[in-house]
Amino acid sequence: NLTVIYYVTPTYPRPNQVPELTRLSHSLMHVPGLHWVVANDHDACDPRVHSILQRSGLPFTHISSPKPPQLNLLRLMPRGVTNRRAALRWITSEPRQGVLYFGDDDNSVDLDLFDEIRKTRKLSMFPVGLISEYGVSSPVLQGGKVIGFFDSWPGARRFAVDMAGFAVNLQHLAPAAAMPYKAGFEEDGFLKSNGFTLEDVEPLADNCTRVLVWHTRSVIPKKKQLKVHLDSDRLDKF
Ligand code: UDP
Ligand code: MN
Repeated sequence: NLTVIYYVTPTYPRPNQVPELTRLSHSLMHVPGLHWVVANDHDACDPRVHSILQRSGLPFTHISSPKPPQLNLLRLMPRGVTNRRAALRWITSEPRQGVLYFGDDDNSVDLDLFDEIRKTRKLSMFPVGLISEYGVSSPVLQGGKVIGFFDSWPGARRFAVDMAGFAVNLQHLAPAAAMPYKAGFEEDGFLKSNGFTLEDVEPLADNCTRVLVWHTRSVIPKKKQLKVHLDSDRLDKF
């Protein structure tokens, strides 16, 4: 019996949304036992996003989760938090078994990642490539146990990890688990709200020696640079 992976993807409307989700869907299509939870920062379920989900053939949940407008006033806007909170609400809305993973729409994954995160009994962690100055963010191990973190920005966090660098077994998701609206502290706040400690961390990816996910980012073309801004995935309207 294959453990289900709940792959939670926040996404938001911009010219790159459809291509990013198309690319990601073509990775996830190869993964058995995966349920894709896509939460869009938009006031309705976009038919273009829905079509990508349907064409993937994966079991999916499509959520409309627009961020509250006050968030735009913050100096550092917490990105994707409203979406992840909505996805967590859906996941905990009924008893479910499996593993929770947060994978942003612009990340790149190696398919081996899924064999790894499926092993998560409580809280697992592993390296993420292309993070800030150091180029990688990873747990640091001693004698097979996680004793700290290598990360460009430790930031007085208990868990100096990226959103893509951990997975949680739903059996250990606390009912009070919450992701804070605090840029830079989303991961740490979420993991602490679950009551996790460093002793809980199960290192994956060959004792954190393999990079199986990358924090890739793509350039968003400015609207005025785009002669045609696609409001549909078809050109016959133009
Ligand atoms: N995101 C969102 N609303 C926003 C900005 C970002 O839902 O207003 C999502 C985005 O699609 C991504 C995640 O939040 O899945 C992280 O955002 P982004 O990739 O822009 O941040 P970065 O990786 O550069 O920190
Ligand atoms: Mn990103």
